[in-house]
Amino acid sequence: MTAPKKRVQTAALLFHPMWGNLAPYFKIEVCAGDGHKRPRFRIEVVAMPEGLVPRALELEVPCCECGRTISPIRYRRSPGNKRDSNVGHHLYYACACPLSVSMGCSRGASARDNYQAVKHAVEASRLPVVGQGELFVAVAP
Ligand SMILES: [Zn+2]
Repeated sequence: MTAPKKRVQTAALLFHPMWGNLAPYFKIEVCAGDGHKRPRFRIEVVAMPEGLVPRALELEVPCCECGRTISPIRYRRSPGNKRDSNVGHHLYYACACPLSVSMGCSRGASARDNYQAVKHAVEASRLPVVGQGELFVAVAP
């Protein structure tokens, strides 16, 4: 018998002291055309200053599913890039154990909730600040 899993409704990273430094470089990439009603998306980390990258890679948070310590900012090897160095690879956000550690963690409801929470936080951080003289309003014709 195991106790029912506690659903995690938010993402540990959002409470990390580094979150404010990271948020500007998080980019939501919708996987277009996959036929889902609610399009899937992935969370890329783009154009992060070189000085910040090592600190981002050192971050550790608990896996959203099992609680094991994970690195939420990871390198994704670009296809065809067989080099061991990190040159040319992309950074992305992950909330769960890599598949090589646990097959289930990244595929459960906790992971889905986690990605939604981060997506919302990123979108909220992009909201224009009224009163800064930089707010443009798009008016439909
Ligand atoms: Zn896990």
